[in-house]
Amino acid sequence: MITGKTKLLGVIGAPIEHSLSPIIQNAALRAAGLDYVYAALPVHADALPSAVHGLRDAGIAGFNVTIPFKTEIIPLMDELSEDAQRIRAVNTVVIGADGRLVGHNTDVTGFLAGFEERAVSLTGKRAVLLGAGGAARAALWGLLRSGTSSVVIGVRSAAKGEALAADFAADGDVRAYAFDDSAFHAALHTADIVVQTTPLGMTPCVGEMPPVDMAEFHSAAVVYDLIYTPAATRFLREAEGYGHVTINGETMLAAQGAEAFYLWTGVRPDAALMKRVLREELACRG
Ligand code: NAP
Repeated sequence: MITGKTKLLGVIGAPIEHSLSPIIQNAALRAAGLDYVYAALPVHADALPSAVHGLRDAGIAGFNVTIPFKTEIIPLMDELSEDAQRIRAVNTVVIGADGRLVGHNTDVTGFLAGFEERAVSLTGKRAVLLGAGGAARAALWGLLRSGTSSVVIGVRSAAKGEALAADFAADGDVRAYAFDDSAFHAALHTADIVVQTTPLGMTPCVGEMPPVDMAEFHSAAVVYDLIYTPAATRFLREAEGYGHVTINGETMLAAQGAEAFYLWTGVRPDAALMKRVLREELACRG
């Protein structure tokens, strides 16, 4: 029951009504017996500062941040976690009792949970990333933070790939090449890990594939697609056909939410329940 003592959590974005977070977070809060409620909060694109300060002043405990505010919110934070600083994006805000706003990014923890679930170690491994957008930035930092020996980024826009590689040049061996570059093909032959971060193959365009030939992959490569709708993209289904261990984006999505839950409440939620609720909701939505 919601009472005067119930603590408030939420997610800000525009649009926000299709967010999966209220369903996942409220299920986990109920299961943990915590007196919190989590709501979707639509914020106008030009009203971010007043919305953030208003939420803080109204005593909300914390909130998630989604499109289009993940980068724009950074100057409003009093402090940033290392992951948020490195990715230059905030997806979770924790508001202290003193009103301090601390920006976190739980996408890295979520991304790495996909490997942990399959007991895949990243130390000393060679990785290839497909794409150089926001999710690729989180994946790249996660791979480097976990001891991956090299990361080659395949891109359609060389400038964007090179800029991403340059941002992480001090953290490891990171290079970016166009998808048709011979150096990119060579990297595909030897990669232990291939991470697909483009939207190609996402519902409703489920027939699309990233521009790579899977016959070029190392036979023991682990293939990870960050997409979670559909659960098995054409890319992952073809990878399974070649005998690769595959990972989809469901665990990442549930685990980034579980980490945010922990940051707000200090309690580890039932991550398996969060993933189950996510699957059920996605199945309902078709
Ligand atoms: P984004 O910032 O728009 O980046 C997309 C990247 O894909 C860009 O590098 C873009 O290339 C590339 N790309 C798009 N269309 C392409 C095409 N036709 N050919 C080649 N490259 C193409 O998007 P994002 O936020 O990173 O999200 C990407 C995917 O990750 C989405 O499917 C999203 O659902 C998924 N994701 C999943 C989770 C999770 O929790 N599982 C979390 C975040 C994101 P350019 O740079 O040239 O534009």
